[in-house]
Amino acid sequence: MPARIVISADGKKAYESWHQVFAAVAPDLDVCSWYDPAWEVGGDDYALVWTPEPEHMERLAGMKGIICTGAGVDHLLAHEHFPRTVPLVRMGGEQTARLMADYVLWAVITLLRDARTWALQQQQGIWRNNVCCRTSSTTRVGVMGLGHLGAYVAQVLAQVGFCVSGWKRTPAELDGITVWSGTDTLPDFLAGLDVLVNLLPATPATDGLINHTLLSQLPRGAGFINVGRGRHVVQSDLLRALDDGTLCGAVLDVVTPEPLPPEDPLWHHPRLTITPHVASEAAREVQARYVADVVRCLERGEKPALLCDTARGY
Ligand code: NDP
Repeated sequence: MPARIVISADGKKAYESWHQVFAAVAPDLDVCSWYDPAWEVGGDDYALVWTPEPEHMERLAGMKGIICTGAGVDHLLAHEHFPRTVPLVRMGGEQTARLMADYVLWAVITLLRDARTWALQQQQGIWRNNVCCRTSSTTRVGVMGLGHLGAYVAQVLAQVGFCVSGWKRTPAELDGITVWSGTDTLPDFLAGLDVLVNLLPATPATDGLINHTLLSQLPRGAGFINVGRGRHVVQSDLLRALDDGTLCGAVLDVVTPEPLPPEDPLWHHPRLTITPHVASEAAREVQARYVADVVRCLERGEKPALLCDTARGY
């Protein structure tokens, strides 16, 4: 039997569009809808998921592999009945990484040039010159999490001319990047930054890591960008850090909860730019090509690059 991809990602209505892109990019693979009443779990089924319903967990346990349309899989692992023994592969690929790098580049320059002030002035028709003479070559950017996305982002920032360092759990070498590893090195990493970028995965070890104590270890008036998960940040501490001058500004693509309720004070802080979790989502056609490659890799008995270590949580 050829491998079959059973699609629940993005809900029942999205299936037709997934079906079309798989037919175009991987005609050798069978695809079917998770919601097709005629579908029964077979031995060669791979599930493509984003946020499966709790009642999907039992059938997910019968899959040969599970591929998530997101790079972060914390929401899956948080489910007590998620089948942790089935291979789980995260979204990746060149376009996902490039989109993230483009977003972070925009966010760093937004902070560097204080673009938030321009936006607020424009709303009120104010023409006030806030020229800023900081340049990329004298701006130190640090990336927390140097994995598939973080390493790529760090290298793009370095190519642009920023002074880039990164922080991760285990030691590594990365061309043109100063790499810090382990909890003990966090204060030294933070002390040398003008802008901190969070690209960690959400795990028990990283939840709530970004609090006032951590932000206070940055040089006073640094900028902060969160493209990891909202759970990483203690949001009341972030607001305090913006109010007391610990931070000059922040750009958040991820918050808690999502969507952010209209009454949340984050919306209205003059030093905060908020985007609705849009930093990096590759085109469906590109995702389908990636998923097909992952399925072929698993079918050959090989290990895909972004196979999640469920015990580690990322
Ligand atoms: P990876 O799993 O490839 O990389 C994770 C990195 O974080 C690794 O370098 C790892 O270190 C490091 N890390 C993990 N735990 C710790 C810790 N306790 N202390 C220090 N470093 C740690 O993830 P990706 O790069 O693919 O994605 C990162 C996150 O980005 C996702 O989990 C998701 O939350 C977020 N994301 C957000 C998107 C958006 O649109 N806003 C889109 C896509 C992803 P080591 O290498 O040493 O293990």
